[in-house]
Amino acid sequence: MNEDRAHLYACFPNRISRILLLASADVLGANGHSAVLTTARLPHLIGNYPPPDFEKGLTFAEVGRLSQAIEDIYGVSGGQRLLRQAGRESFKYWMEGFGGAISVADVALRLLPPVLRVRIGIEVLAEIFNRYSGQQVTLGEGRDSFFFTLEACGFCSERHSDEPSCSFPVGILEESLFWVSRGRHFVVEETTCIACGDPVCTLCIDRIPLDHAS
Ligand SMILES: [Zn+2]
Repeated sequence: MNEDRAHLYACFPNRISRILLLASADVLGANGHSAVLTTARLPHLIGNYPPPDFEKGLTFAEVGRLSQAIEDIYGVSGGQRLLRQAGRESFKYWMEGFGGAISVADVALRLLPPVLRVRIGIEVLAEIFNRYSGQQVTLGEGRDSFFFTLEACGFCSERHSDEPSCSFPVGILEESLFWVSRGRHFVVEETTCIACGDPVCTLCIDRIPLDHAS
């Protein structure tokens, strides 16, 4: 993607912007959410979320300001914990907003063994990120892990941090894999982050669920 295009697409469509706002409001409560939107210099969004269409919505820089504001108000680790929780809460809104793609996957998924269900769950999420936002996800696999690598990340844009700071997509993956595996808990951890100066954001997913009976 050249510079011009990258600039053009460095945003989420309204439908995803709305999901980010609904999920963060669920976790922060109305007052907390208003404080965060004010601190992030997005006060026009208080009680006024974008419609679920595909027009241009929040820019990556604005989403970066949202997570910075959550850290400013709740502290770095408290803020990241809330972002992760918001990511998990957002799963139900992704199902509403992108249910078509996911329900097709669901029918196919029923027939497959768990390890393949998990891989397909990760692929569906990568496909949604790549198709509907300017994020660029590539997938990889190691012996013990799957790697969900964001070469362009909409969650930490223009941020500088000592700690990995993309807990929102970590939460999305955790909840998606919980659903796709019918109730297993997979450890998801961000191991590199553009906000820390790394070239990409890497979300590392354990292949074996925590509650695996060996
Ligand atoms: Zn990131």
